Amino acid sequence: MEKIKMLTPLVEMDGDEMTRVLWQLVKDELILPFVDLKTEYYDLGLKHRDETDDQVTIDAANANMKYGVGVKCATITPNPARVTEYGLKAMYKSPNGTIRAILDGTCFREPILVKGIEPCVKNWKKPITIARHAYGDVYKNSEIRIPGAGKAELVFTDEQGNRTTQTVFEFKGPGVVQGMHNLDASIRSFAESCMTYALENKKDLWFATKDTISKTYDRDFKEIFEEVYETQFRDSFEKAGITYFYTLIDDAVARVMKSEGGFVWACKNYDGDVFSDMLSSAFGSLAMMTSILISPKGCYEYEAAHGTVQKHYYRYLKGEKTSTNSVATIFAWSGALRKRGELDGIDALVSYADALEKACIKTIEDGCMTGDLARITTFENPTVLDSEGFIKAIRATLETQLS
Ligand code: NAP
Ligand code: MG
Repeated sequence: MEKIKMLTPLVEMDGDEMTRVLWQLVKDELILPFVDLKTEYYDLGLKHRDETDDQVTIDAANANMKYGVGVKCATITPNPARVTEYGLKAMYKSPNGTIRAILDGTCFREPILVKGIEPCVKNWKKPITIARHAYGDVYKNSEIRIPGAGKAELVFTDEQGNRTTQTVFEFKGPGVVQGMHNLDASIRSFAESCMTYALENKKDLWFATKDTISKTYDRDFKEIFEEVYETQFRDSFEKAGITYFYTLIDDAVARVMKSEGGFVWACKNYDGDVFSDMLSSAFGSLAMMTSILISPKGCYEYEAAHGTVQKHYYRYLKGEKTSTNSVATIFAWSGALRKRGELDGIDALVSYADALEKACIKTIEDGCMTGDLARITTFENPTVLDSEGFIKAIRATLETQLS
């Protein structure tokens, strides 16, 4: 079979530990035999980030902006233990945070559904995509421990020196106080990203806040979403037969549990943090969760939602067999290649991406899977494969499909 030609390179961001091992296997077994792969390679492995003082992460993000589509392997976010383990010069920031700041993107997380791995919520028939607003709120807060009686105030001083003051609370004894912020521009680009994603994927969009209680802060979110919808998206949503639905966060949570899925759920930063973990575990496995970062300018970065699977990597280093699930990593590649195919008008690349995803799903539905899925499957006597064996099984399914 002739290999599929590409026009524009993908921005390839390599990573750390077990996922770096899977990365190479996935390329060797599932991509390079079929695609004449063009990538611009950036090594975001921790050692190389350290050698470049993390410049490589910035370069990779800028390349992602330049070419439009990137695919990223999971990476270590250093903590003090990692600084010692790798002898780092500094405790670098999370690469995902750096990339997100440069792309100004919204992160969409979507579970991959297969027969035999049933969601805990039995009425969920279709994936629920979570879009998390990754700016501000409690993640960029200021907090003070109140030692005893006194008045806490919220003060804003404008550029002319005019002050607006509000009493937060008159303390009679010790307590705590917190201040947080958000930006209209960030909320607007979040709304635009969510609506663009819903439209591209022909899915309804839900958004929820607590604007009945937070009459200024949360209402700002609600109003900006409404304005973006009315001025930019209403017509195209109606043509596509999809809806934008706003409700209160507690009502949204109740409805999500009763729904059959199939929509995009836009969440404020904290809600997205909490509910994305709830959804991924309720849908089955973190290893079956994909993550796409989409910038308002139309740049895409694809990755798995899970980390570098450190425990498996240490076993791998000792020469033990591991059974690490590569599905989300494979879907990162297929997602990026499909998008590249769509943007460059290469139908063969789009079809190949579809086939690769189908091969993953069929392999699992035929009963061949890694340990994480074998533990939760409803199938009797699944065949448990090791990391490499699973990728080889997917290759065999893919070759049968393509021939
Ligand atoms: P993790 O990689 O998400 O893994 C946590 C546990 O989840 C694993 O020990 C494993 O459970 C299970 N798991 C996750 N992915 C799996 C897969 N593909 N196949 C099978 N099981 C899987 O989190 P971590 O090990 O706590 O974190 C390791 C590093 O990842 C950290 O340094 C963190 O900074 C980084 N991280 C990176 C990203 C990113 O780049 N996007 C995201 C999160 C974390 P069992 O041990 O029970 O098998
Ligand atoms: Mg979290």
